[in-house]
Amino acid sequence: MGPQGRGSGFSRISCEEIKTREAKINEPSGKEAQNTPRAQINQRVDRMFPKALLIVDVQNDFCPGGALAVPGGDRIIPILNQYIKLFHKTKLPIFASRDWHPKVTKHFKEFGGPWPVHCLQDSRGAKFHPDLNLPSTTIILSKGMDPKKDSYSAFQGVDKEGHSFLQILKKFNIKELYVGGLATDYCVKSSALDALKLGFEVKLLTDAMKGVNLKADDSKNAMEEMVKGGAEKITLHQLNL
Ligand SMILES: [Zn+2]
Repeated sequence: MGPQGRGSGFSRISCEEIKTREAKINEPSGKEAQNTPRAQINQRVDRMFPKALLIVDVQNDFCPGGALAVPGGDRIIPILNQYIKLFHKTKLPIFASRDWHPKVTKHFKEFGGPWPVHCLQDSRGAKFHPDLNLPSTTIILSKGMDPKKDSYSAFQGVDKEGHSFLQILKKFNIKELYVGGLATDYCVKSSALDALKLGFEVKLLTDAMKGVNLKADDSKNAMEEMVKGGAEKITLHQLNL
């Protein structure tokens, strides 16, 4: 409200008007509102949701045309996008893990490891697949930076400030993880088994994960192992957030 019609002297304003103005000044509005204790509590409450989505390693190098492609790896992306949309709409946290390797690591064949060079830091291959619609609020977990370790599990990943996945899950009070991505028989399996060991409930998004299957039954066996560990298999139409 502008001061029009009231003249310029302070003496023209009644005591009541001053009180009203003070109340308006103290009332949080716009950007300031986000910094009041009340708003901070509300933000915390918003974050008390017990569920989160974890998308494992949907990077160019793990998709057809990439250095270590999972056959049909990109075919899960449309359905992953559906999960992303629903989690985002419900304001539940979304995590995306990524391999983020240095040039020299025992993870690679030329340094005694099992894999060809893939997902080098800042390379095109390490980027998330362009069709994956990750919201800007997605928490990215980078893993595999230690040249002495393989790091298959998202629980070996850290966010850009260096917080571990477990620390962030605890901060958000997450109890249940919905897991999809690449590859079922390596990083998805490793992440899901770690989550189960750490006491999280795990839902396997069976329509949104794909395996490498170096041996024909690898994905099937991985699925059995995760279910044996306590994970539950679901598909998109069973999702109940
Ligand atoms: Zn790797």
